[in-house]
Amino acid sequence: MKILVTGGAGFIGSHLSEALLEKGEEVWVIDDLSTGKLENLEKIVKHPRFHLVVDTIMNEKVMEELIEKVDQIYHLAAAVGVRLIMDRPIETIETNVRGTEIVLKIANLYKRKVLLASTSEIYGNHVEHTLSEDDNRILGSVRKRRWAYASSKTVDEFLALAYHLEKKLPVVIARIFNTVGPRQTGQYGMVIPNFVQAALLGKPIQVYGDGKQSRSFNHVKDTISALIGLMNEPAAEGDVFNVGNGEEITIADLAEKIKKMTGSPSPIEFVPYEEAYGYGFEDMQRRTPNISKIRSLIGYTPSRHLEETLQSVIDYFKQ
Ligand code: UDP
Repeated sequence: MKILVTGGAGFIGSHLSEALLEKGEEVWVIDDLSTGKLENLEKIVKHPRFHLVVDTIMNEKVMEELIEKVDQIYHLAAAVGVRLIMDRPIETIETNVRGTEIVLKIANLYKRKVLLASTSEIYGNHVEHTLSEDDNRILGSVRKRRWAYASSKTVDEFLALAYHLEKKLPVVIARIFNTVGPRQTGQYGMVIPNFVQAALLGKPIQVYGDGKQSRSFNHVKDTISALIGLMNEPAAEGDVFNVGNGEEITIADLAEKIKKMTGSPSPIEFVPYEEAYGYGFEDMQRRTPNISKIRSLIGYTPSRHLEETLQSVIDYFKQ
């Protein structure tokens, strides 16, 4: 099969492209290298079934040339990372909304199947229970610009479902929860690469807020097997699925765990949110997926526990 991965030079996109090549597919990547990196593609750039186009998904002419020749599109290109979203809100909204409009419009011209990479961010600030696909969204004020990301990705989801309903476009939406693993950079705020790098360098591990907020982290390889499974399951079309791992940990405990696993002398510091992100930030207290829907449809269960995932990140940064 011929497959297009938008944002394929990013952390998740590069692992996905590798996995698709291993399955024998022919892969095209389009990436503007804004947050993606060529070095992420080091292992595959010379592969005979791999093609890289360095351009933006906003370039409709290039997108049409690519989409016409493929069978499936994994649409991963997006503004990612809380740090980037806080610092560059216009770019976040425009890339996420206009970029997806272009992908869906052209995919519909050629009736190509699209997997839209969405985010657990769209659930907003729930605390009570694990998150299921049909839960309400609880988003803060428009003046808290963090929520621009959730709102832009929500528009993407609505648009994808609208194309499915009105135009019979085959689409599937994957709501990806915190994903980690080798190659993820801490540059855009992600907690695990930041904690691991600080621990290895003996610098303070900075926990934002009181550290009682929790997350659940999935290894990138487990995320990818879910994406490929969803894309190739006809019964998933026109529907939304959580992709994540149910194992939950508070950020303060995560800091302790990483300190211990690395044998680091780093102190753990608590930093107020305003100091970390400036005005306009609001954190999510909890974000754990209910993964029963994807499990019952494609038999998906993450195969790695947090400790193994953390070890893979520690090994990566040690190199
Ligand atoms: N966080 C932290 N220190 C950091 C980076 C992040 O304490 O250096 C916290 C952040 O405030 C959030 C959690 O870790 O509560 C996860 O942050 P991340 O940006 O990785 O993901 P998201 O908030 O999108 O789940």
